[in-house]
Amino acid sequence: VVCASQDFDYFYFVQQWPGSYCDTKRSCCYPKSGKPAEDFSIHGLWPQYNDGSYPSNCDYHASFDPSAISDLKSRMEREWPTLACPSGDGDKFWSHEWEKHGTCSASYLDQHGYFEAALNLKERANLLKALQNAGIEPDGRFYSLESIKEAIREGTGYTPGIECNVDKSGESQIFQVFMCADTSASKFIDCPSLLRRRCSSKIKFPQFLRGSEDLMS
Ligand code: 5GP
Ligand code: 5GP
Ligand code: 5GP
Repeated sequence: VVCASQDFDYFYFVQQWPGSYCDTKRSCCYPKSGKPAEDFSIHGLWPQYNDGSYPSNCDYHASFDPSAISDLKSRMEREWPTLACPSGDGDKFWSHEWEKHGTCSASYLDQHGYFEAALNLKERANLLKALQNAGIEPDGRFYSLESIKEAIREGTGYTPGIECNVDKSGESQIFQVFMCADTSASKFIDCPSLLRRRCSSKIKFPQFLRGSEDLMS
């Protein structure tokens, strides 16, 4: 019997703001390759169903193979850094993303194609530039959720979903940005559905502090 990999309807392409991952109670650890740039970075490329649910862990035999993406490694370290503790080289995060989400897209993309597609989407959606063009800077100030969505729509052509988390003082801040892509992850599409994820109407855009400041804060 051949096990067909599960099909899906579209991808969520999810980017994270490192400042908002790191300024929470849980804090963060920089990857072994060094402190990431002050920029959005990739969290994942997640297959979705139109009804809002999603498949996961679709193939226990297709384990992560770092050698299959060795040519992408420097781009991965730059655009897809791991911020969880303890510090890692990225393989654990990438392996988790591939095994939980990537294996569910195998009818369209192999492992190399999956990671390369995510990197290429990141290149085509410069979120920080879109926000800065609208005067929205990572300066620790509060901006309206609507102005953030509008700036990203203006800069990329697509309305994103925004997910918030809370900093150490309990203030709502921009944590992740959701965009949608077609099943081959070759182009963005309008999102079939976006949940409002824990944001208040005005949210903080924190800085991404340098290591020494992090330790003291
Ligand atoms: P959290 O509970 O932090 O929102 O999400 C934990 C994990 O659940 C995420 O890292 C991701 O793997 C998965 N997840 C959360 N929301 C979604 C979603 O809308 N679509 C998919 N495919 N995965 C999700
Ligand atoms: P998810 O299941 O939500 O797609 O993936 C989140 C998992 O990846 C968690 O187990 C988390 O500990 C791990 N992880 C490692 N580095 C990062 C990171 O930089 N950001 C996020 N969100 N999760 C990370
Ligand atoms: P996971 O089970 O996926 O490791 O982590 C669950 C949740 O905790 C995810 O939302 C992930 O982003 C968060 N998380 C895991 N490890 C860390 C960490 O070291 N620092 C922070 N700030 N969040 C973490």
